[in-house]
Amino acid sequence: MTTRSHPKGLYLLFVTEMWERFSYYGMRAIFVLFMIKALMFDKAHAADIYGTYTGLVYLTPLVGGYIADRYWGNRRSILVGGVMMAIGQFMLFLSGNLHNTDVQSATWFLYGGLGMLIAGNGLFKPNISSMVGQLYEPGDKRVDSAFTIFYMGINTGSLMAPLICGTLGDTGHPDDFKWGFLAAGFGMLLSLAVFSLFKNKYLVTPQGAPIGMAPKRVHESGEKVVHAPLTRIEKERLAVILIVSAFVIFFWSAFEQAGASLTFFAEEQTNRNLLGFTVPASYFQSLNPISVVIFAPIFAMIWTALGRKGMEPSSPAKMAFGLLFLSIGYLVIAFGVDGLQPGVKVSMLWLVSLYVLHTFGELCLSPIGLSLVVKLSPARFTGLMMGVWFLSTAAANKFAGTLSELYPEAGKAAPQLLGYTINNLHDFFMVFVFMAGAASLVLFLLSSQLKKMTHGLQ
Ligand code: GLU
Repeated sequence: MTTRSHPKGLYLLFVTEMWERFSYYGMRAIFVLFMIKALMFDKAHAADIYGTYTGLVYLTPLVGGYIADRYWGNRRSILVGGVMMAIGQFMLFLSGNLHNTDVQSATWFLYGGLGMLIAGNGLFKPNISSMVGQLYEPGDKRVDSAFTIFYMGINTGSLMAPLICGTLGDTGHPDDFKWGFLAAGFGMLLSLAVFSLFKNKYLVTPQGAPIGMAPKRVHESGEKVVHAPLTRIEKERLAVILIVSAFVIFFWSAFEQAGASLTFFAEEQTNRNLLGFTVPASYFQSLNPISVVIFAPIFAMIWTALGRKGMEPSSPAKMAFGLLFLSIGYLVIAFGVDGLQPGVKVSMLWLVSLYVLHTFGELCLSPIGLSLVVKLSPARFTGLMMGVWFLSTAAANKFAGTLSELYPEAGKAAPQLLGYTINNLHDFFMVFVFMAGAASLVLFLLSSQLKKMTHGLQ
């Protein structure tokens, strides 16, 4: 059973999500620059809007998941969410068109567009992920590897996004940002087109029944369908999702330093000279999606091979490994900067090693977590629980910002965390070594209990 290839529906969801993520990350790549350079917002204001936007984007899946479970089903939620996101991108295109003739309308189109993206993502993101798991029978060993392949789609889109939308939009001329938004809008339309064209053919269970339809509210006999209350087993399974989601906050808040403190580190403390060319600090952020695309198939193969031998770790144990890789990544860089004199720069290889190790961690935790949510949720709650899972991403992004304020700077008083003084970069990186390491250890210790609570569905 484990050697069977994956259903075609997986590749449809892969391509749909790839273009949606292309759209999401394409806009994100130029968003702050657009606010600063075209709309002339000051940096603090732009950073504030950016933080609120990325936080809200991961908060709304809770609502989108609920709407799908209760009323619309996954398919319709994805379609409505996708259309809203495309409209959002086109509103940003209009904002980019008007930025120097009518700033007031440009600002309104900006906020309107962001609102559409936030609401649309809430409907799209949890539901596309839920559908991946429904392509398989409960208990099918291929589900973790399916989510790992799906995750490769996410990152193929994320990888192309800055290259295309960044190149078109960030030309140094503020009038050009609109082309980046337009490309993001077209990416979303492409996602919708592929999904609409092939959904009926490929989004089916192994027996050929359609998946992602609206829940039945009335029996054929005309009687109302009553959702059964949760059984004890179902409650324990949901508790597992809540517990692992709490651990995931520690993961993403350390991982998401990529966009903040690790970018300062790349900018100020890393020797970015490569054969006479200076590598821009922002390029380091592509290391993660590139590594996901390279290593995801290897991880998918490892899970399948271990599964065949009956040696596959449980999902909570895989996630504990994820936290361990994250901790090791920070340990490597803490070693690299140990005793570093101010003003001296370190080799790029330290950051490269950190990002590759972090990607290994991400591959053990993120697709596995998505898969676990689908496996453990009773079908009538999958969307909502997917929303809970993304809620931890929302909280973690906020927490990541707070932690990155601990980054030590010359001339500033040494920051403190729970009585621990951060005098230098080594001390700063050790915060994440301890945080992720401790979370990993506790999750390892809990993993056999959690496995029991899944009642055979991990
Ligand atoms: N890069 C992933 C995505 O955009 C991260 C999602 C998450 O934080 O859970 O889908």
